[in-house]
Amino acid sequence: MMAAREVMQKDLTLRKGWCPSAHRPMQTGDGLLLRVRPRAGSLSLDQLISIADIAERHGSGEIDLTNRANLQVRGLSAETYPEAIAALIASGIVEADADAEAARNVVVDPLTGLDPSHIDVRNLASALEAMLIARSDLHALPNKFGFSVSGSARGIRTAPYADISIAAQNQETYSIKLDGNAETHIELKPPAVVSAVARLAEVFLALTAENPELRRMRDAVAAFGATHIFTKANLASTLAYATSNFETSAPSVGILSHAATPYAVAIGLPFGRITDTAFKNLASQARELGCRDCRLSQQRTLVFPLTTRADADALLSAASYLNLITQAEDPRLMMHVCPGAPSCANATTSTRIDAERLAQALRNYVEGMPSIHISGCEKGCAHRNATAYTFVARNGAYDLIVNGTTQSAPHIASISPTSLSSTFQAITDRRS
Ligand code: SF4
Repeated sequence: MMAAREVMQKDLTLRKGWCPSAHRPMQTGDGLLLRVRPRAGSLSLDQLISIADIAERHGSGEIDLTNRANLQVRGLSAETYPEAIAALIASGIVEADADAEAARNVVVDPLTGLDPSHIDVRNLASALEAMLIARSDLHALPNKFGFSVSGSARGIRTAPYADISIAAQNQETYSIKLDGNAETHIELKPPAVVSAVARLAEVFLALTAENPELRRMRDAVAAFGATHIFTKANLASTLAYATSNFETSAPSVGILSHAATPYAVAIGLPFGRITDTAFKNLASQARELGCRDCRLSQQRTLVFPLTTRADADALLSAASYLNLITQAEDPRLMMHVCPGAPSCANATTSTRIDAERLAQALRNYVEGMPSIHISGCEKGCAHRNATAYTFVARNGAYDLIVNGTTQSAPHIASISPTSLSSTFQAITDRRS
């Protein structure tokens, strides 16, 4: 009979390439990676410190903040993973049931309840997560099927896109839209929102039962139309056709204020990564300043509620000392960088080291900083869309693509990793 650890090792090997979760870790170049989701978009500072402890004790100490506003603990092994998941469950961060944990795939507006111009949707987000956990029939939704909840009428930018997006238009009216149709949406009173979302998820599952090729809501919308799906969910009477803009800007970094009154501090993680030591240090400093929780944003920033300028300045100065992003002019904010080598077995360059070197050279860039993508291979995990300058690694060197994606034709081939800044400088000088 195979020992439990051997069974787990075999299972983990089979899971290579899965969309990871806390219960379904993914094998990467630097060991197993597990993903932790905040609850209703936030984690307590005690939970942040627990996650950093787990990363230190059971992983490599590196923690990612993803573009789904999830945290990833890296560098675990088949030996250390069981203790890590047990600690996450014990601290209330992760559901004990794997399917329930996977189901609560909800991205929440990081400024809700903080920015006075946003409606407070935290209770609604919690109710939505509770419904997704409790409704075991909805656990059959695809692994990546996701939801977003915003306190702003403009919604939140969700990349990759949420299948079902909810946005508060005002205290009395909430909109729900389906991915794949920006114009058609429904408008409901707040108490009706969660049950409407459940019905839409049921309709999606019924459609996929008859049409197995449908993988996400946008496929169902393309095949049947949003109006058909809302009608099947008995929501036709709430349909609205006016264009509703669900795009919004990212929370910036630094002190966030409304009418000159601070309400939070946003701190960026360079290329979405932080060490356990820096994470603990930052969370401890925030706790000393009276902060109790932290919001995670899809723009890879940590948002700490703080309401005095003195406290905000104190946390920013601690973050700056830790080499985190505290100023909107920091070039690292405009750079999309995948884990690269050695974290990813597909990478042929150390993308983060190369990106940090390029960012240093761009600190005094006087023009508006263009978007830059540094990718360890053509897959382009860090950013699917076009950027002004995309560097794609091939055989240990980079190809440069201008105004394209990792799949576009290169402008210059085989640039040495140490020559990224001089090449960038030369090409931008030529184009200005
Ligand atoms: S883009 Fe390539 S190298 Fe980078 S993380 Fe994705 S698969 Fe790995």
